Amino acid sequence: MYPRAFAYHRAKSYSEATSLLSELGEEAKFLAGGQSLIPLMKLRLSTPAHLVDLNFIPETSYIRSNGALRIGGMTRHAEIAASADIAKLPLLHDCAAGIADPQVRHMGTIGGSIAEADPTGDWAPVLLATGATVKTLGPGGERSVAISDLILDAYTTALQPAELITEIVVPVPAAQSGGAYIALKRCAPVYATASVAVHLTMHDDHVCSDARVYLGVLGLTAKRVQAAEDELRNNAVSAKTIDRVCQAVMDIAEPVSDMRGSAEYKRHAAGALAKLALDAALKRARGERVEVTHLYA
Ligand SMILES: Cc1cc2nc3c(=O)[nH]c(=O)nc-3n(C[C@H](O)[C@H](O)[C@H](O)COP(=O)(O)OP(=O)(O)OC[C@H]3O[C@@H](n4cnc5c(N)ncnc54)[C@H](O)[C@@H]3O)c2cc1C
Repeated sequence: MYPRAFAYHRAKSYSEATSLLSELGEEAKFLAGGQSLIPLMKLRLSTPAHLVDLNFIPETSYIRSNGALRIGGMTRHAEIAASADIAKLPLLHDCAAGIADPQVRHMGTIGGSIAEADPTGDWAPVLLATGATVKTLGPGGERSVAISDLILDAYTTALQPAELITEIVVPVPAAQSGGAYIALKRCAPVYATASVAVHLTMHDDHVCSDARVYLGVLGLTAKRVQAAEDELRNNAVSAKTIDRVCQAVMDIAEPVSDMRGSAEYKRHAAGALAKLALDAALKRARGERVEVTHLYA
């Protein structure tokens, strides 16, 4: 289906983009990679009268590592997957490299993904596990918002009208930290059935000093698994601990049966993903190089 006719506006700067959107009002939308917005427009589930294109604004796509890791809002998933700086935080690489297929990864942006707040998107559990902050620019000026305060519900963020995401800031993890993100997908170009992000800091090879565990897809937003974090924090990571972490992940999941599988299947998948992600995160925290790929079934 063709989208509703719309007026196209090419912004030359972020401040021009936010001013334009403010002037044009509720019928206007930012256009980033178009990988969520354009399909929705073609289905007429979204019918903006104006699109304000962010793609021609200079200096909006970058990855900088000066203290924290800074990722420009218009940075494509593929650029993130290919970055040597991102390789130092392999949890981010696991995510970017596994999003859909090369076409989507070369167009889709991290800023657009966060703004879309799709509960089945990959970035939310990963950025929540790293404790990332999102920088924004809107009619009221610049803001810095913790990602946990930005994503409010399915497809709902705390972004104000005409406010856009300019940068994602990921803090440098403490020494002896490691993370991993693993999703279960039916095939590459589709969203995940379930996913788990784990970020650990170890006191030594066995005892965990801090942990963040997030479950993706099986809820309206990515779910923090506090019971799993409590099992890990200040404890030796034994086989029994890992079993309890997996159980906590399964307990918090809110799966529904659909074309991706039964609720029961998804709950068990979440537990299995937690075990794999935890194992990879633990090895990475110990300094091992571990390649992680999503599971396709
Ligand atoms: C076939 C297919 C498979 C996919 N599979 C996956 C997957 O497995 N995992 C996954 O995570 N994603 C997946 N995606 C989505 C993809 O990651 C998109 O890139 C992402 O959801 C949206 O980013 P975008 O840059 O394309 O944004 P757009 O589609 O351009 O915009 C999305 C929304 O965000 C707003 N917006 C865009 N940029 C900003 C900004 N900087 N600030 C504020 N608002 C902004 C727009 O106005 C719009 O409302 C898939 C997409 C397709 C088409």
